[in-house]
Amino acid sequence: MGRNVINKDGVTMIVCSRGQRTPHCEICGKPNGIRLCDYPTSKGKTCDRRMCPNCSARPQGKDEDYCPDHRERAGLGKPEPKFNLEGSRMIAARYDGRCKACHVEIGAGDDVLYMPQEKAVLCEPCAAETEGQQRL
Ligand SMILES: [Zn+2]
Ligand SMILES: [Zn+2]
Ligand SMILES: [Zn+2]
Repeated sequence: MGRNVINKDGVTMIVCSRGQRTPHCEICGKPNGIRLCDYPTSKGKTCDRRMCPNCSARPQGKDEDYCPDHRERAGLGKPEPKFNLEGSRMIAARYDGRCKACHVEIGAGDDVLYMPQEKAVLCEPCAAETEGQQRL
């Protein structure tokens, strides 16, 4: 049996039961993880972080992709600062949410960087990384 027929709300849908779906991007979580990081991490191995085209960097004229952690070492330069940090400050989160950069879950009371321009927060490691970039 290669397919299941589901009758849902009077609409007949045909669903492939083999679950052939594009894997999710490990960076942003979008179901478009069609690229793998090609940075060599050890002999014969590459980082293989799964990414969407948006989150990966590709050197001009090459068929290689690099994740945000490796693009700098692959000679592609630093990622652009992604956020407007004007007026940002460390606060204790007032409610549960997610880090704007890495999408990690944030609980009320956690230290976060609040960015009023973005109306969003960053978790501590992302805050340190982002602030470090903007000081350069
Ligand atoms: Zn992505
Ligand atoms: Zn990588
Ligand atoms: Zn984060």
